[in-house]
Amino acid sequence: MPVFDIKLENTYALLPSVLFSPSLPVPVSDPSTVIFNQKLADEIGFSLSDLSEEQANNLLSGNHIPAHAQPLAQAYAGHQFGNFSVLGDGRAILLGELVTPSGQRLDWQFKGSGRTSYSRGGDGRAALGPMLREYIISEAMHHLGIPTTRSLAVVTTGEKVYRETKLPGAILSRIAGSHIRVGTFEFASMQGDRSITQALLSYLIDRHFPEIKKKDNQPLALLEAVIHQQAELITHWMRVGFIHGVMNTDNMALSGETIDYGPCAFMDTFAPDTVFSSIDKKGRYAYANQPYIAQWNLARFAESILPLIEGKREGAIEKAEDLLHSFEQVYKHKWITMMNAKLGFITSHKEDEKLITDLLDWMHLVKADYTNTFRELSKPELPRNERYKSEEFKYWHNRWQERLKQETQEMASSFALMRSVNPAVIPRNHKVEEALSAAEAGDIAPFHRLLQAVENPYKDSENLRPYQTPPKQTDKAYQTFCGT
Ligand code: AMP
Ligand code: MG
Repeated sequence: MPVFDIKLENTYALLPSVLFSPSLPVPVSDPSTVIFNQKLADEIGFSLSDLSEEQANNLLSGNHIPAHAQPLAQAYAGHQFGNFSVLGDGRAILLGELVTPSGQRLDWQFKGSGRTSYSRGGDGRAALGPMLREYIISEAMHHLGIPTTRSLAVVTTGEKVYRETKLPGAILSRIAGSHIRVGTFEFASMQGDRSITQALLSYLIDRHFPEIKKKDNQPLALLEAVIHQQAELITHWMRVGFIHGVMNTDNMALSGETIDYGPCAFMDTFAPDTVFSSIDKKGRYAYANQPYIAQWNLARFAESILPLIEGKREGAIEKAEDLLHSFEQVYKHKWITMMNAKLGFITSHKEDEKLITDLLDWMHLVKADYTNTFRELSKPELPRNERYKSEEFKYWHNRWQERLKQETQEMASSFALMRSVNPAVIPRNHKVEEALSAAEAGDIAPFHRLLQAVENPYKDSENLRPYQTPPKQTDKAYQTFCGT
């Protein structure tokens, strides 16, 4: 049974013990694999081929623990909607670390695997719909070229979970660069012992920022690197109209990956104030707020490592403050470069920003679909659409055409660039809901079709049509829930 001997490493378990609790998945009565990500398995060198179906179900549900595993639940804290709480993996278990054939270290985590010492009042379980939701959105994000945790499998447990109604229980196998969050540093820092934060910081640098090991003020260099990493991630989200929905500091991963797909959703109609989450009453995590929130979260990260920065040399605190302020320029530069690519500009001109904001203002005014508008602009001929006949749009379009002519490369290069950053398809909310409802009723076929559509998002295809049409009602009415 080779995979049962799968080599799992446990470097996280070598950190100070306050940062985790050894914890086993709670066995489930009747595990059954709903979906297994063979492509990801192949990429990371994970094989189930020598296992019977029953063995695979047991492995992917946590009923069978591989020989070298030292499963644990990670401790963390976090600012949730601005308020500090002590949290931790309340329904997740880090089974161990896989080292891929190319030497990359990845966490294998179960989500929905039962209570841990951090569960507070929760049942430690997850329902099938939300786990499939994380699966499809995380895989879509990956294929859109956005750093993200991945989904290896979803297994039903044969047990019910009780939310507003009785739902089928499920466990997701999540694969991630790591699960170290801004909130993990907040938790380390609140212990009041610098050596704990130092150990976590050294671990993070070893695992994700090895180039920093040479720097003389490592905590400061780390802060700078994390600022760039998070600005990059948010720029990607803005590019595809992704709204995370719950950007609490415990949901910001220092691997630079998008993590914890709860009430997230993609925007159909362009509106900067779009919010989907039913609990985000004040729009704290609205589309256009995401860069500001990232900066706010980074300030919490900086505070957590400040005692380590401070000890190094004079002026370090001021330098940390300057770095935090620099987020605005770092992000803005990345955002303009990204929007320039969306409009086919290979070079950068000073009037580009105005061209970008004028287009976005027009899209907002006429309630244009964010994805389809950019994809339509990415083709040499615009489709016949009343919207594109308006004087206002024509005026903008002429200015854009003139600007494109100033590029030194052929027009075809601009269009090719645009088609590589403006997706033809995103997992639209109504299609996601349709696929999840069918799966909950026992029909996984629509889920597979949606998955296939989002796996190749930059290539036009007739098969994509049903996935490209925005819903009839605007997504103002669409709400996502945290009961994940
Ligand atoms: P999330 O909203 O998924 O980011 O979770 C926030 C916190 O609540 C984390 O500490 C989770 O582990 C915990 N949590 C969420 N759902 C459950 C559950 N069903 N049982 C126990 N803890 C949970
Ligand atoms: Mg979370």
